[in-house]
Amino acid sequence: MSNEQQPRLYYPSEEMVKNAAVSGMDAYRALCKEAEDDYEGYWARQARELVEWKKPFTQVLDESNAPFFKWFADGQLNVSYNCLDRNVNNGLGDKVALIFEADGGDVTRITYKDLLTRVCKFSNALRAMGVKKGDRVVIYLPMSIEGVVAMQACARIGATHSIVFGGFSAQALRDRINDAGAVALITSDGQFRGGKALPLKPIADEALGMGGCECIKNVVVVQRTGAACNMVEGRDKWFHEVCASQADTCEPEWVDAEHPLFLLYTSGSTGKPKGVQHSTGGYLLHAILTMKWTFDIKPNDVFWCTADIGWVTGHTYITYGPLACGATEIVFEGVPTYPDAGRFWKMIQDHKVSIFYTAPTAIRSLIKAADNTPTVHPKNYDLSSLRILGSVGEPINPAAWEWYYQNVGGSRCPIVDTFWQTETGGHMITPLPGATPLVPGSCTLPFPGIIAAVVDETGTEVPNGQGGILVVKRPWPAMIRTIWGDPDRFKKSYYPDDFKGKLYLAGDGAIRDKETGYFTITGRIDDVLNVSGHRMGTMEIESALVAHEKVAEAAVVGRPDDLTGEAIVAFVVLKGARPTGEDAKAMIKDLQNWVGHEIGPIAKPKDIRFGENLPKTRSGKIMRRLLRQLAKGEEITQDTSTLENPAILDQLKQPAG
Ligand code: ATP
Ligand code: MG
Repeated sequence: MSNEQQPRLYYPSEEMVKNAAVSGMDAYRALCKEAEDDYEGYWARQARELVEWKKPFTQVLDESNAPFFKWFADGQLNVSYNCLDRNVNNGLGDKVALIFEADGGDVTRITYKDLLTRVCKFSNALRAMGVKKGDRVVIYLPMSIEGVVAMQACARIGATHSIVFGGFSAQALRDRINDAGAVALITSDGQFRGGKALPLKPIADEALGMGGCECIKNVVVVQRTGAACNMVEGRDKWFHEVCASQADTCEPEWVDAEHPLFLLYTSGSTGKPKGVQHSTGGYLLHAILTMKWTFDIKPNDVFWCTADIGWVTGHTYITYGPLACGATEIVFEGVPTYPDAGRFWKMIQDHKVSIFYTAPTAIRSLIKAADNTPTVHPKNYDLSSLRILGSVGEPINPAAWEWYYQNVGGSRCPIVDTFWQTETGGHMITPLPGATPLVPGSCTLPFPGIIAAVVDETGTEVPNGQGGILVVKRPWPAMIRTIWGDPDRFKKSYYPDDFKGKLYLAGDGAIRDKETGYFTITGRIDDVLNVSGHRMGTMEIESALVAHEKVAEAAVVGRPDDLTGEAIVAFVVLKGARPTGEDAKAMIKDLQNWVGHEIGPIAKPKDIRFGENLPKTRSGKIMRRLLRQLAKGEEITQDTSTLENPAILDQLKQPAG
């Protein structure tokens, strides 16, 4: 189906290649070959070089209880030690670890030494409350220094943390506390977002009062907004008070490599959230290695990942990866549109950010904002400090990629389009900035040591140029270990019998380019459309729509159709106002012709609806499963606990015009 034109390749500059950790494609291929020739030897070498072990491992990969794989199982380590003590011991004590910028603009700088002290004090406080190795601790905090401190402190004492995003409801929080059987909850009085103080503790109280949270013995509350809090005697304590009297050193708990560092419930694009369980050793290794190779982190970089610590991206690329590499990073409390939609660009300018990592949803909304309000266009800011850009979370449409490349990166910075999942722990398929020639919209090639493939329903690899199902052929160190409390669901979801339990099923569709072998993610497996016998990924049609000058964002789903099997329904957000009446009708015609011209008449959406936004998860991803119900004209009956903007569903119910 795809357009036969050869896509343009974007090559890294000579300087980028020369200085990069993985320098040039030959270096990339040599690493891949090393991994193919001696898979365990390759990962063992990385693990010995990059992680500091208390007790070195002698076993590498243990497949005896597949698919419950183990890595480095007889080794012992501590993640917080690797992130903090190790850097302080290596002379980085006075280096700035965190640059915290508050919603209102105040900036706080925390050195490695300061951070270690704060983490030790809170670790001691948790221990004093009786929290011990293996206990689960739920963290329900906004983006904050304390959020990072709380995660690191859990890691230090061997408690398994589970972060619940600060935008989630009481019900969602209650369900996650209950599922994890957590003994402590760390929250705050409230949070600042977009100039407003929002309550958090009252939501936590509501969750704890719902029944099913009796496991929680201690609630620690960070003072942020100063809002009055109902503190339950004997259970609730202020963070600053419990830390005040504690010693500023704390012996780490040395844990086995397989010890669960954290649980994280997935974002819920496709169904009921599941508690993804991660390990300690393998996870840390992948966090470090991807920081070094995908982001090419260097001592002078200022790294900024805009994700929230409530998502896996905020775990691997805020709390763990950058700190384990001794980097300086930004932690941002606010939102990209406050005080105006130039906030990201202003912060890059102010802090001289050199590596910037964000999501397509943010880019698309900032394109729309810059089109409507020229003063917030990135060209008004000095972004010359940037050297590498990244994208994560959804496929990035080629049109958005080009805008990001030209307007933010000054046509100078490689974009690493990193494909990965909560379950994978870190990047799986991604360009390396000083090696991989880029193609907009493609996540290019697997990270060295990741053996990915595209297969058909029987698990047989399909030829390049033919779409199929994305799988990973060998277990990798940072992979999900199980679903908390539900090993059967783990097996069924990720190592299904269809593939004889041998292939990791990502749940995404992909196609590899005939010439380059590059991977392009075509959408979730459920999102493949079949129109009159033609199989199409929703992503391709969405990208065609977004390439239209008036379109900001689009989502495409299928609806059963008597004539064609499936009919294409497109939900579209325009850059300007939402059209109605005759305007909407004219716009629909225009868009249908556009898609017909870009891809082919078969891809023309039959039904197009306009909204001011699309239904999104709280991590900013389009919830196509809800759109599928709307397209069929059904009432929404599915789980909407992770939906950010329920009101938008009404707008999208009716066909436009
Ligand atoms: P749930 O598993 O609960 O449905 P989710 O899959 O959205 O939620 P995440 O683990 O946060 O939860 O997201 C991983 C998914 O995001 C991938 O499976 C893929 O669909 C998409 N994704 C992430 N990065 C990229 C990328 N660079 N290109 C294309 N798709 C991406
Ligand atoms: Mg998923």
